[in-house]
Amino acid sequence: MRELSVYYCPVCGSYAYYQIKQNAFCLKCNAKRKLLDVRYQDFMDLDLKQRDSLIAETISADRAREQRDGETATTPPTTITDRERVDELKRRIEELEHENQELQKTVEWMHATIWDLVKRGKASPH
Ligand SMILES: [Zn+2]
Repeated sequence: MRELSVYYCPVCGSYAYYQIKQNAFCLKCNAKRKLLDVRYQDFMDLDLKQRDSLIAETISADRAREQRDGETATTPPTTITDRERVDELKRRIEELEHENQELQKTVEWMHATIWDLVKRGKASPH
């Protein structure tokens, strides 16, 4: 049996364990995960916070290397960034729609209250 290895997603920083490199794929980002330069056992010994910071450091080291290498830099395909952007926009729209509904309710309530007050004002004997 082959040993498990740790792979990380260079886009979102999530990680997973695979025996076969071909399986290392981040479904969320539609990106290939990269092999982390740490043994599976060593990685398991770290706590969640240490794992996260190790991956964050690895990703920023990757980016620094890519910047230094200049033209040979491998920028992630635009489809990934576009997809992420679309997801983000969808989230924003949902938020705004929700906010809008809340505002609509408030406006309706205010109208009702104002009309109620106006009617009551007319009806009152003062
Ligand atoms: Zn990812």
